[in-house]
Amino acid sequence: MPDEISHILWTYLILKHPRLSNRKEFKGRKNAAATYFFSVFPDIGNLILIFLALWVISSNGLPMVFGHHAEGMYPEVYDVFMGSGKNIYYAFHSYVTMGLLLGLFYLIMRKIYLPVLFTGFHITLDILTHAEGNALKPFYPIFDFKINGLLNWGSWEFYVIEITLLIIYTVWLVRNWRKEKEKEKEGEKEKEKEKEGEKEMEK
Ligand SMILES: [Zn+2]
Repeated sequence: MPDEISHILWTYLILKHPRLSNRKEFKGRKNAAATYFFSVFPDIGNLILIFLALWVISSNGLPMVFGHHAEGMYPEVYDVFMGSGKNIYYAFHSYVTMGLLLGLFYLIMRKIYLPVLFTGFHITLDILTHAEGNALKPFYPIFDFKINGLLNWGSWEFYVIEITLLIIYTVWLVRNWRKEKEKEKEGEKEKEKEKEGEKEMEK
């Protein structure tokens, strides 16, 4: 599931921004876990579809097949991914569902729980990267229209961009990490200097 890796990486990157990392809604382990959970939440719908397909295969006594290329599927399995079951995919990838989650958390916590918004971020990324058969209905079930993405995830263009971003991202992370180390070292040197200064004063 390369999709999940990129959702998690994007979330990690965004949480690095001081305007977010300084907010108490994102501080602490619980909130961080919630943020990552909501950043992959829509794909729980995909997981449900996979389990549904497995159940359909075993209950119909069909031999196991892996991968969901439409042409290689049994009609019963095709119906799970591309037919009636697809509404589960639309529902989980819908801003309407995110709105309901926000409402639910508002009732419990009496505030807008910001980590839930990462579900919206996931949906936005998916709108851009899911085309044709994978295209989302971002306001399902209130509005039924689909938005065709700029590219389709799984296409070679998608992987070229994905891998380029990954390289840029890694370089950026390593540079930041080095800068932090240098800062630490400088801090230590200054402390040593201060100590030496104090010793001199004592003399
Ligand atoms: Zn998704």
